[in-house]
Amino acid sequence: MSHPVYHNLIGGQWLPAAGGSTILNLNPADHTDVIGEFPASHAEDVDRAVQAARHAYAAWRLVPAPRRAEILLRARDLLVQRKERLAKDMTREMGKVLAETRGDVQEAIDEALYVAGEGRRLFGVTTPSELQNKFAMSVRMPVGVVGLITPWNFPMAIPSWKLFPALVAGNTCVIKPATDTPLSTYNLVQALVDAGLPPGVVNIVCGSGSHAGAALLDHPDVRAISFTGSSAVGSHVGQRAAANFKQVSLEMGGKNAQIVLDDANLDLALDGALWGAFGTTGQRCTATSRILLQRGIAAEFTQKLVARARELKIGNGLDESVQVGPQVNAAQIETSERYVEIARKEGAKMLCGGHALRHDAYAHGTFFEPTVFAGVEPQMRIAREEVFGPVVSLIEFDTFDQAIAIANDIDYGLSTALYTRDVNRAFAAIRDLEAGITYINAPTIGAEVHLPFGGVKHTGNGHREGLGALDFFTTWKAVYVDYSDKLQRAQIDNAE
Ligand code: NAP
Ligand code: MG
Repeated sequence: MSHPVYHNLIGGQWLPAAGGSTILNLNPADHTDVIGEFPASHAEDVDRAVQAARHAYAAWRLVPAPRRAEILLRARDLLVQRKERLAKDMTREMGKVLAETRGDVQEAIDEALYVAGEGRRLFGVTTPSELQNKFAMSVRMPVGVVGLITPWNFPMAIPSWKLFPALVAGNTCVIKPATDTPLSTYNLVQALVDAGLPPGVVNIVCGSGSHAGAALLDHPDVRAISFTGSSAVGSHVGQRAAANFKQVSLEMGGKNAQIVLDDANLDLALDGALWGAFGTTGQRCTATSRILLQRGIAAEFTQKLVARARELKIGNGLDESVQVGPQVNAAQIETSERYVEIARKEGAKMLCGGHALRHDAYAHGTFFEPTVFAGVEPQMRIAREEVFGPVVSLIEFDTFDQAIAIANDIDYGLSTALYTRDVNRAFAAIRDLEAGITYINAPTIGAEVHLPFGGVKHTGNGHREGLGALDFFTTWKAVYVDYSDKLQRAQIDNAE
């Protein structure tokens, strides 16, 4: 069966990779379903895209921000109209169930509305000068050409978190989508193009991280890199970008803990754990991968969680009755299998799951059973390293202070959740959990676009998406206007 062939978007034109090679985008629920063929780009293609973005920047930075924002609003309306089709495309290309891909498109819709409002804010600061007859203010300026490198698990939401604030602030962009999910980036950018975005303001270059991604990191005309992905790749991206004096924002992995205290609403905590651990097949940076159980409720919680995990319906996400879709590719399945083996060798007890599914309807896809390990100790690798699959570890503790210490004793610091009815403990946890996000009586997943998103330690390098993205995509300029008509010397003329 023939499939569509997609090209890079460079300066408003759809162009194949200069080298002519392509990469197939397959449906992880059914590898016989080919979504399309995408360019395998190299440095030459990236250079063309950066030149197009540089050229477009000259005019785009002068478009008033409220006008730039209107394009985002029109794109938002188009995304609303196209939501169902785009959600289906996304389920086909990366596997998560339709309810979740609708949510992913909705996140881009929400982000467009939120960021478009910033077109009429983009607030700066005015402040008194230390000298008479002198005016002082700070204004936000665009950074220039920015490079965006995105992962496959939120293939429309994450590009929208980066593209929309970058655009409203007056930057031009080159985006390198994940190899597994370029179509959702095309669908997002197509909405911007149809909404009237001028040519060259957003350019798409598809290809592998080691070729297309690396070329973006090294290009001298790219001023900033915004990356979301694994901590291993992020560390490399950060170092390479730093060597070229680029600003760099890194959003990376997690090993997120849900803590359940003895006084918690147990059914609520179970609902949260099930959704947090197995939603998106465990492939969220904020996925619950450790559940910390206070001794009094541990046995009952464990038994109920396992019973419910066993009942989850696994299959093709296009089937509305399916709850857990496939993992995105064979490498992710191998990672899940490897960690199951590691956990067993460490002495953790597997209570359910643990296997890839390869029979009958699963034969053409990359499916893995929801897996629960009990008897996990905080020092085990299964309790410390990101799996990025439907695998969750149960760890028992006695006191609240122990739970906080275990939750914090890892390299990552993205999301955390506490289930309790004790308001004092809730506020102590908000203060003491080392993470960019803390939920009380809600699962570790479920961020909203207008709050800061990101983490501490190996999860991030201090920047935030959502509330905070404009700080990354703008650079401050301090402006002094002296209307005294004489030379006034700061720190000298008015000193004691
Ligand atoms: P990944 O392997 O790190 O890849 C992320 C992106 O970087 C992809 O576009 C990838 O291209 C590209 N890349 C790979 N090597 C590169 C290189 N040498 N130079 C430049 N770019 C390179 O991550 P992933 O597997 O796509 O996504 C899963 C990871 O993302 C998990 O660790 C998850 O926790 C994290 N994540 C974090 C957040 C957050 O906001 N904190 C959100 C979502 C996901 P290819 O696709 O061609 O490899
Ligand atoms: Mg795919």
